[in-house]
Amino acid sequence: MTSSASVQSLPSWDLSSLYYSKQDPQLQKDIQEALKAAQKFAKDYEGILSTLNGSALADSIKTYEHIHEILGKLMSYGFLLFAEDVNIKENVNFYQSLQEKSNEISSLLLFFPLELNSLEEDMLHNAMEFSSDLRHYEPWLKDVRLFKDHQLAKDLEKILHEKQIASRSNWVRLYEETIADMRFLYNDQDSLAISEILNLFSSPDRSVREKAARAFAKGLKEKSSLFSLISNTLAKDKAIEDTWRKYERPISSRNLANQVEDTVVNTLIQTVKESYPSLSHRYYKLKAKWLGLKKLSYWDRNAPLPEVPEKDISWEEGKSIVLKAYDAFSPQMAKIGERFFTENWIDAGLRPGKDNGAFAHPTVPSIHPYILLNYHGKIRDVMTLAHELGHGIHQVLSGSQGYLLADTPLTIAETASVFGEMLTFQSLLKTTTHPLQRRSLLAGKVEDMLNTVVRQIAFCEFERMFHDQRRQGEVSSDDIGKLWMKAQTESLGSAFEFEGEYSYFWAYISHFIHTPFYVYAYAFGDCLVNSLYATYQKGMPQFEEKYLHMLKAGGTLRHKELLAPFGLNAADPSFWKQGLSMISGFIDDLESLS
Ligand SMILES: [Zn+2]
Repeated sequence: MTSSASVQSLPSWDLSSLYYSKQDPQLQKDIQEALKAAQKFAKDYEGILSTLNGSALADSIKTYEHIHEILGKLMSYGFLLFAEDVNIKENVNFYQSLQEKSNEISSLLLFFPLELNSLEEDMLHNAMEFSSDLRHYEPWLKDVRLFKDHQLAKDLEKILHEKQIASRSNWVRLYEETIADMRFLYNDQDSLAISEILNLFSSPDRSVREKAARAFAKGLKEKSSLFSLISNTLAKDKAIEDTWRKYERPISSRNLANQVEDTVVNTLIQTVKESYPSLSHRYYKLKAKWLGLKKLSYWDRNAPLPEVPEKDISWEEGKSIVLKAYDAFSPQMAKIGERFFTENWIDAGLRPGKDNGAFAHPTVPSIHPYILLNYHGKIRDVMTLAHELGHGIHQVLSGSQGYLLADTPLTIAETASVFGEMLTFQSLLKTTTHPLQRRSLLAGKVEDMLNTVVRQIAFCEFERMFHDQRRQGEVSSDDIGKLWMKAQTESLGSAFEFEGEYSYFWAYISHFIHTPFYVYAYAFGDCLVNSLYATYQKGMPQFEEKYLHMLKAGGTLRHKELLAPFGLNAADPSFWKQGLSMISGFIDDLESLS
């Protein structure tokens, strides 16, 4: 392991709020209850929704929500155990069998959204007039009916759903297991897991970074035909379904799910691409100068700045930095945040086989969220903690909306996390007076913002090119590499020089596998938060209250309605420019510090 002494005592989560163990009798009871309820549900409601009045329709949705809550609880437990250590075969099998069980049960419910979709607008409108219970579900009904025009015949939907387990989900699983099993031969001797080797990319020692990057590239290259097969299969699977469902572009279904208009997303992508020169190109030129290099290699992207000694931040310090920053903005949020620590909702340890990323999993509203991260004791990890805690607090607040209405669209889902990071950053900046440390902190923030905005838009461009090309036929691993290099060279600019082996790095970005086109949501969220933060800094009255109201709304409001109280509008092109100007402002500061 690469952890130092000060970060060794890291918390593990306590999953007993869900189940005590895989053998917990409650687990089988829940499966049985969900199965019985689903069978009864299908018997009670299939084929008759159009004959129900408002309150009966509301009752049916409540039952549907309850069954999904049980399934959600089961699946959350399986997923979190799996994320703890994907090398434990029992956990893998357990998760798989839960998925199959849940799939079997939820396929009994599949008729419901389809039938809701086929209801006449007038009928639904009338039913809502007479039932406040039904009106409560109006935003969810809107979401369900969002896909109305892209829905297939009932039997087709059923077979697609049932076959998922033998197609899409298992390709994703193959990818995950392959990545988790990979060991990278660092220095030709140390066999490192992915999170360990990636951590070396931010080593202050350039030769360490180079060796780590080469070992990583070598590992990815060896598996590139498998990764290419997985990516091609998933893209083809998506293309087939997109064609049947009549989606115009590969990105269209994601936009619809995000409830963002295609034009709004295009404006975001265009605005960011046009800003590459004033953002990433300008910043990495500065970075090359600081590092005393004519050109940066791809392993210098995450290099720390030279003059500042790397000081480890203990878990306790990290926790206190984040909670204090939240508290200064909103004591109510800090209070919720504290529960994650005192009630063991966080797993921060470093273990081989553990999920190498970071996430906050909402589980279900009747329980509470869990956070997973790999804490190495750097500023970056403190920011990750602030980020995931933002998600977690958001999930707690929106949980009051219930299972069906708690979830926010992806584009809004990153709001609380990025805002929490900004709070933490600003409070760190305030207490840092040493010019070099300030520079390092500011540069760290700029790099994070570039990673969130520029890099994700470059990812999105890569996905766009890949999916477009896949529609013409299978794309070879080399050709995928070419698309990756194109997107990377455009976004990173002339401060970098690349070597061929970098062309395999597309393979470790798991978002491409899990959720195609997820990535632009990060850029969307970041720019949105930057504009929001600017509004807060200007001293808008009752900002905290409005902000908490926005988080509590969960999935009940859309971006237009959520932003209106702050006087912001994402359809306005200047909205994105305002967000981006916050990053270029920080780069201006860095130029003047140099
Ligand atoms: Zn996030």
